Amino acid sequence: MEKITTDICVIGGGPGGFSTAVVAARMGKKVLLVDRAGFIGGQLGSGLPFLAFWDIKKRQVIGGFAQEYVDRLEAVGASYGHAYCPHHQSTTLVHPFYSRIICFQMLEEAGVDVLLHCELTDVTVENEKITSVVVTGKGTSIEIDAKIFVDGTGDGDLGFMAGAAYEKGNEKTHVMQPPTLMFNLGGVDFDEFADFIAQHPEELPYDVLPNIAEGYNAEFFRTNKSFIFLGMHHLLEELRKKGECPVDRETVIFIRQPIPGEVMVNTIRILNFDGSDVRSLTKGEINAHLQIPKIMKMFRDHVPGFENCYLASINSAIGVRETRRIVGEKMLSHEDAIAGLKPEDSIALCGYFIDVHNGAGQGTYRVVIKEPFGIPYGCTVARDVSNLMMTGRCISVDHLAFGATRLMNECMVIGQAVGDAASMAIDAGIAPKDVDVKQLRKTLLEQKAILRV
Ligand SMILES: Cc1cc2nc3c(=O)[nH]c(=O)nc-3n(C[C@H](O)[C@H](O)[C@H](O)COP(=O)(O)OP(=O)(O)OC[C@H]3O[C@@H](n4cnc5c(N)ncnc54)[C@H](O)[C@@H]3O)c2cc1C
Repeated sequence: MEKITTDICVIGGGPGGFSTAVVAARMGKKVLLVDRAGFIGGQLGSGLPFLAFWDIKKRQVIGGFAQEYVDRLEAVGASYGHAYCPHHQSTTLVHPFYSRIICFQMLEEAGVDVLLHCELTDVTVENEKITSVVVTGKGTSIEIDAKIFVDGTGDGDLGFMAGAAYEKGNEKTHVMQPPTLMFNLGGVDFDEFADFIAQHPEELPYDVLPNIAEGYNAEFFRTNKSFIFLGMHHLLEELRKKGECPVDRETVIFIRQPIPGEVMVNTIRILNFDGSDVRSLTKGEINAHLQIPKIMKMFRDHVPGFENCYLASINSAIGVRETRRIVGEKMLSHEDAIAGLKPEDSIALCGYFIDVHNGAGQGTYRVVIKEPFGIPYGCTVARDVSNLMMTGRCISVDHLAFGATRLMNECMVIGQAVGDAASMAIDAGIAPKDVDVKQLRKTLLEQKAILRV
């Protein structure tokens, strides 16, 4: 079997794995980033926007690598930067395809070795330490030896296969947030849509969601090219009464894209789904694709501005919101998050509200975060496997705290800290859990991370 030896092996190149790989390579480490897809960026390539670079008081709480990435997008017209949103605090559009190009540019500049079209297929653990992993693509397997392994798979596949403890979904019911297959519609007339909302303000979500400031209205959609629309519950209710509602949820969500006349529709919902199970994934992909024409018909027939919309693209795979979280040296609780605690070993701040879509029925559970909270370093270090770190959404947080920490920009700044910490651990010849967090925070601040507001 072919063998690769490297300092740090990152499995999964979503916002978490991508930033970890670039930052560790910039610190002079030999880094291999492996992904099963044909591009890097994970959900960054879906048309989803960054949310809550700003907290509820409009203070920027996420900087560093995530801000650098937005600057790169803006420089090529692939984002308009941060814009105020009465609901999401701030929105920052991400062009689904430029995002991938910029990921490759930054990986090349940093000197990261990349291996695509390869899925993790085996993990060898001796004395609670990963000695090697095997990745396989096109019938060929490659063994990878590394000093530190980083789980950036989103689903915690590496930690799971290494035998680390994990939690999945809600601690009691094990229900996970539902997935959504994102698709883009072109040919949308935004002025006509804003006129419709002006005439039908009841379609705004003020009576179904608790945390929306004033100003989420027709004028906002007419004048803000970085908007996310969330609402239309009356329309869905009407259609449901007639047996014509195309989706099991109470609101539609679409996101204006930095592409003329285009929106990304984040509305499909599959209930009772498990994104870490291939049978469930298969069923979910099929059901999700079959929902697209029904949702399109609803938009065309009932939403002015969408009469002439057409299917512009479908994301590369169903978007899985929640699966496993690997248990770390520390686990962030939602109580600490809601209290706005910023422990001394915080490696990133988060100011987004707790946002839990119901995976077993209708509704969304939300809790406002009045003060940003800190994510302790220990949430990124596996408790049971000494050379395993987690980045992105599979870090060690509880189910409700996850509702806030899962954001892509959050995953990026967590990844930045993991890249630095893994590099420091290798330099010092120590395990990740023994990294000097004071020194790590100093390095992060030098890299323009935001650790206090
Ligand atoms: C429907 C939906 C809507 C969302 N809305 C928003 C939003 O508006 N704004 C926001 O900021 N966040 C949003 N999120 C959350 C956010 O997208 C994710 O939490 C975030 O992308 C997680 O980053 P990650 O790096 O952990 O994983 P991902 O982005 O999921 O990337 C994981 C990567 O690992 C690779 N991979 C997975 N398993 C393996 C394996 N076994 N072997 C090799 N490679 C593997 C995948 O190909 C992928 O590239 C949303 C998520 C979903 C699903």
